[in-house]
Amino acid sequence: MKPRILVVEDETHLAQGLKYNLEAEGYKISLVDSGTTAMKLLENDSQAYDLLILDLMLPGLSGYAICERLRTIDESLPVLILSARSLAEDRSRGFDVGANQYLTKPFDLDELLARVRNLLRLHPRRDIAPKPKPLTAKVTEIRFGRATVNFETYEVTVDSKEVKLTHKELSLLRYFVENEGRVISRQELLTEVWDLSGEMQTRSVDQFMLRLRKTFEIDPANPKHFLTIRDAGYRFVEAPAEAEES
Ligand code: CA
Repeated sequence: MKPRILVVEDETHLAQGLKYNLEAEGYKISLVDSGTTAMKLLENDSQAYDLLILDLMLPGLSGYAICERLRTIDESLPVLILSARSLAEDRSRGFDVGANQYLTKPFDLDELLARVRNLLRLHPRRDIAPKPKPLTAKVTEIRFGRATVNFETYEVTVDSKEVKLTHKELSLLRYFVENEGRVISRQELLTEVWDLSGEMQTRSVDQFMLRLRKTFEIDPANPKHFLTIRDAGYRFVEAPAEAEES
């Protein structure tokens, strides 16, 4: 079943471009150009959609108001706000009213599509997207690069030397191992590894990533296993193609 996206945008040219490009990606698009109509559709049946793409400045009802009201009837519909403004306070207001993502116009189409994919994957409303594998998958020991990691005994060696990892570092490593090769956003790591999204900042994820690299990479500044994917997150590679280690 195609993911269904409600696009609320009153700039005709942009709206048509969005519709065209999203449909080309295989999504089913409903397009409306007024805040009032959008709110009516959502109040009537918000479950009819898997994602809401929402402009802020709209005739009738603002994007903020729509998002705020939506959250009283539907907590899980992912919302991507599109805004012509770029002030930081607009962005935080967007998150305050319950938006999941925020893009400032003009935006890069590829970035929009990446965020759409990400939101649909992280907030599945039906079985339209594969969910990330749970932490309980049975990986007990893994070798990569110079390291051996046993997730049951917590024994970790690098170049046959024992190293100590904290429980959280091991959980993070395990999540990467179980999702080998897949790009994982910081937000997903917070949700899946830390099991929370409020009190930890995505910056803290980066701190943990630095420690993993320091432990496992030959050159932490030029990682081969724990890769940063720009604007998207991280990716773990068990056996890099151009492996320089032996
Ligand atoms: Ca507008």
